[in-house]
Amino acid sequence: MKRKKIVAGNWKMNMTLDESVNLINELKQISTNDVDIKIAPSFTNLNKAVSLLDSSKIEVIGQNVHSEQRGAFTGEISIEMLKSVGVYSIIIGHSERRKYFNENDSILSKKAKMAIDNSLNIIFCIGEELSEREKGNHFELIKNQIINGLFGLDKDQIKNVVVAYEPVWAIGTGKTAENYQIQEMHEFIRKLFNDKYGSDISHQIRILYGGSVKPNNAEEIFSLNDVDGGLIGGASLNFSDFNAIVQAANG
Ligand code: PEP
Repeated sequence: MKRKKIVAGNWKMNMTLDESVNLINELKQISTNDVDIKIAPSFTNLNKAVSLLDSSKIEVIGQNVHSEQRGAFTGEISIEMLKSVGVYSIIIGHSERRKYFNENDSILSKKAKMAIDNSLNIIFCIGEELSEREKGNHFELIKNQIINGLFGLDKDQIKNVVVAYEPVWAIGTGKTAENYQIQEMHEFIRKLFNDKYGSDISHQIRILYGGSVKPNNAEEIFSLNDVDGGLIGGASLNFSDFNAIVQAANG
């Protein structure tokens, strides 16, 4: 089964409003029908990004969301707030949220459930630290992240989930995982979905790779059997790199 590829840019805590506007105006030139393109600007730039991309196929998504609907959670952003500015998808469980903001499996599964229950699509990130891989624990760890984070969702809900496998040691380091490491983990993840939800879901679910994807390695990574595109950090911050990565997914 052919799954449409996704290239999603995670801008993290980068880009002022003016910088975002400039980049978005360049991104509007990207031409492809074969790739779902998404960008995740910071919260302060979402509203503007949505209006600039109103008639474009590029989707604006959030980097995070709170698990409660509303209330006394100073500094947090709710699902309702995101939807009110035209954002209908978010990233959940990025390793930087797990590591620097102590978001554990139980918080993340709550966020995932709340988001899906309220009609937000999610890109759910998982990934192991280098120390876990060196101990040979990486498959077990990924399995637990998926079971704990996502397997509370039912078969209909899981259709609104995209998974991003991002080995933590490859994020922002310039060190990409080897192709065989990427493919074997993606295959393993797809099998988990097969065992839990059946073969239709496992064939449909899109599994992105993230971790130092650049124009020079995107094509070979995206050509791996179980890789359905990428979550891109650093290289999503300039037009020519991001465009080259989108074109690599276009093939
Ligand atoms: C990311 O932050 O999700 C990521 C993959 O970053 P980078 O592409 O910079 O490694």
